[in-house]
Amino acid sequence: MYDDEVVIIGAGICGLATALALHKKGIKSVVMERSETLRNGSGTAVGIRPNGWRALDQLGVAEILRHTAIPFQSLFDIFFLDYQHSFIDCLLRYHNAGEARCLRRKDVIDALYAALPPSMVKFGCQLESIKLDPDTRKPVLRFIDGTSIIPKAIIGCDGSKSIVADFLNLKPTKMFPICAVRGLTNYPNGHSFGHEFTSFKKDDTLVGRVPVDNNMIYWFCTTPDIPKDERLWKNPEAVRQYTLKLLTTHPQEIQQMAEKADLNSVSITHLRYRAQWDLLMGTFSSGTVTVAGDAMHVMGPFLGQGASAALEDAVVLARNMGQMGLTRVEIGKALDRFVRERKMRVARLSLQAYLTGMMLGGSSRVEKVMWFVLLSVLFPNPKSHMDYDCGDL
Ligand SMILES: Cc1cc2nc3c(=O)[nH]c(=O)nc-3n(C[C@H](O)[C@H](O)[C@H](O)COP(=O)(O)OP(=O)(O)OC[C@H]3O[C@@H](n4cnc5c(N)ncnc54)[C@H](O)[C@@H]3O)c2cc1C
Repeated sequence: MYDDEVVIIGAGICGLATALALHKKGIKSVVMERSETLRNGSGTAVGIRPNGWRALDQLGVAEILRHTAIPFQSLFDIFFLDYQHSFIDCLLRYHNAGEARCLRRKDVIDALYAALPPSMVKFGCQLESIKLDPDTRKPVLRFIDGTSIIPKAIIGCDGSKSIVADFLNLKPTKMFPICAVRGLTNYPNGHSFGHEFTSFKKDDTLVGRVPVDNNMIYWFCTTPDIPKDERLWKNPEAVRQYTLKLLTTHPQEIQQMAEKADLNSVSITHLRYRAQWDLLMGTFSSGTVTVAGDAMHVMGPFLGQGASAALEDAVVLARNMGQMGLTRVEIGKALDRFVRERKMRVARLSLQAYLTGMMLGGSSRVEKVMWFVLLSVLFPNPKSHMDYDCGDL
């Protein structure tokens, strides 16, 4: 039914943004999402920094989203609870890095979806495999309901466990020895935490707290203590209890934040990343097939750049496709150009996120200083990744 169309796999932030960007360039596409409905019911929030706002501006949804969240001022304050105002604390603090807001993931998904023409997203379409047709050598998408499509182009926005990435023979993503709990907590009478992104580190547990608006706080908690019991991963109440145990030595306001979290929003993830070497060496397009967003460059959340980088991908991909024609050969060239343009950008972002994560997770002061020195040498301006401009659509 969708033979000879541009098919996007996955209706997350990247898939929807890519569909919107292509639509703005006059290129028709269809998004195939495995879930039966838009995945806006779970998840917490995503940080959007100046580079992400530039991409949202290009997509024409920035203004709507600016009304959903307040800007926060300080971007990265770490208070080491054991030794406040320590050497590392001071070195890690930086402020005023341009427009930064923490948006509910739901708001981003809803805004992108609402900007698309109706019926562009097909729900309940789970991709099972991609194989090359033995006669034509064209890639064939096969879905779990048994249907098959031979599309004009395939853009895999199917997240960190991407089937499209497997088709491209990309190396499997790696696991950080860290898991992250995330949640949203509503304070009906307003919270008193100001407009700041603040983090607290005690022993191995890092807690981050960011205001979404004057009532809502997004928080996360990372720990190397990865729960073994698989039942816990799917049970938000069990995740909350587990988090409270991690926070017993943290200040009461932090514990209360986790205690009062909206259970629909509480989730736990084992953090993944695509190794920088694999990002530099991997083949991210082959003929008319490519990947974008987490499928290409899932990274640790330590810079809060996952969603912004996915939005940049959408703009760059659609620009390149818009500059070329829509024959299979021209699409192949456009995808090659997209990958060339993105490779260094996402490899650098991912490396900075990796080193930041290692520094925050470092078990000794010596180790932390070592990662810090490496970060300072490789990224003398730690904010420069936010200055990146993905350009016009
Ligand atoms: C439900 C959910 C909640 C999240 N919550 C948070 C959060 O609270 N905080 C945060 O920072 N980040 C969160 N993320 C991750 C964040 O949204 C992404 O890192 C970032 O936005 C890049 O997104 P993406 O579109 O590349 O990948 P994803 O957001 O992972 O989207 C991938 C999409 O592809 C679909 N998909 C996967 N496999 C198939 C298949 N075989 N066939 C068809 N469709 C498929 C998935 O259902 C999903 O909709 C969440 C992701 C999801 C899916």
